[in-house]
Amino acid sequence: MPDDTPTGHRARQRTTPQVKTLLQSLPSVSVLLEHEQVREWCQGTPRAMVVAAVQAAIDGARTAILNGETVEPVELEDLLASVEWEVYERSTPSLRSVINATGIVLHTGLGRAPLSDGAVEALAAGAGGYCTLEYDLAKGKRGRRNTHVVDHLTAVTGAEAATVVNNNAAATLLILKTFAEDREVVVSRGQLIEIGGSYRLPDIMKASGAALREVGTTNRTRIADFEHAINDRTAMLMHVHPSNFRVIGFTEEVAIEELAQLAHRYHLVAVDDLGSGALFDLTAYGMPEEPSVRGSLAAGADLVCFSGDKLLGGPQCGIIVGKRSLIERIEANPLMRTYRVGKLTLLALEATIRAYLDPEEAVNRIPTLAMIRATTDELADRARKLAEQLEAALPDEKFLVCSDVGFAGGGSMPGRELQTVIIRWRPEGVSAETMASRLRDGEIPIIVRIRDNAICLDLRTLHEADFEMLVSGLSAAVSYEDTEPDAEG
Ligand SMILES: *Cc1c(COP(=O)(O)O)cnc(C)c1O
Repeated sequence: MPDDTPTGHRARQRTTPQVKTLLQSLPSVSVLLEHEQVREWCQGTPRAMVVAAVQAAIDGARTAILNGETVEPVELEDLLASVEWEVYERSTPSLRSVINATGIVLHTGLGRAPLSDGAVEALAAGAGGYCTLEYDLAKGKRGRRNTHVVDHLTAVTGAEAATVVNNNAAATLLILKTFAEDREVVVSRGQLIEIGGSYRLPDIMKASGAALREVGTTNRTRIADFEHAINDRTAMLMHVHPSNFRVIGFTEEVAIEELAQLAHRYHLVAVDDLGSGALFDLTAYGMPEEPSVRGSLAAGADLVCFSGDKLLGGPQCGIIVGKRSLIERIEANPLMRTYRVGKLTLLALEATIRAYLDPEEAVNRIPTLAMIRATTDELADRARKLAEQLEAALPDEKFLVCSDVGFAGGGSMPGRELQTVIIRWRPEGVSAETMASRLRDGEIPIIVRIRDNAICLDLRTLHEADFEMLVSGLSAAVSYEDTEPDAEG
């Protein structure tokens, strides 16, 4: 073992007689486990968890002694307090619900789209038991899992066929692998996107075995650039929606319509990776423009792929729609099996897509759409209500309702600022950073935006149902007594 293991590190420490005495004063794991208080905690908590907590508490005390941070014998009371904290840490689920006060509707770090009530009900009703995941009730035989959503997907997009995989990255990879492995795919240099760090189109391309043929420049690509690049090895022309940035100024991109015409003239596949993919014209409902799946198909794209958990507002998945013959080839790819979705996804997706059969219903019932659509008047109303409740609970603090700009996030509506309403709060006596960290540390963590040393609570992602928890979360954070002195004093 190298010397930097904890044991090696410990062995290198010089143990003075005083340190030795301190270490000897620590109780053993078995002694602590027998302590009345610990036995009490043991009742509701799996024993293995309590043992691990006791071990961690003793290890922590030992490290503090060895590092010279503890020079007095460790009090049993302090040790018990750290056991309690360790038990609490271990019994709290790691994946927790939070309040998203950032205003970013599709926040990838916070799980992107919150599901609709319909989807949640479908999950609650179906997840705990058996279901017809791959069972044809009429025939009493094995069925196919994607059938539950295919008809709805084709109905809402106008596509001939549809299929569902784990996410849009998988959808892209499968499309590339099925049609362009060992061949070339032509893409505009201005559309070679990276999203959230872990998704880079050139890397997906490489993993698929397709050769990337970049054409044009970062800001300008013309149809002639595509045509010049076509050769014997070309399999596909690809259009990618630059979903998290916008190149503005002296720019030119080839529209999917023109690209599809060119592809078909050369018997190539035209693919449109829409990223977010609106299922209907959102501008009709006062939302910013986002290319629609139906529009892309109508413009001639053979295959269109998009995420289930972006604008669509459903569970994480990737949806591919388009020509039946091509979808059949994708489904015949052995890799399809490795990207298939589970019953939880299909339960939630079916309920989500059903709502889309009536756009009016969708804009009201799908939380992502409802949040993006909320007007500043509605948000201001909500903000005033929340500010009132906060001021009543925290009379020493000042909460200002003001307007601001936010973004939809999650690779949707890039560069389209969304006018929003926030509550600005400069906490008394502590920095915004410190307060934000306390808010994250609360029973229900509250995630906020910080600007100019002020906490910003953005009403776009906050609902009246959250207000009670917000008020108690902020109250707890204000009265929080930190054992560490605040850096700002
Ligand atoms: C988000 C996005 C992806 C990746 O989709 P996931 O569902 O997150 O895998 C791919 N392409 C575009 C254009 C995107 O916006």
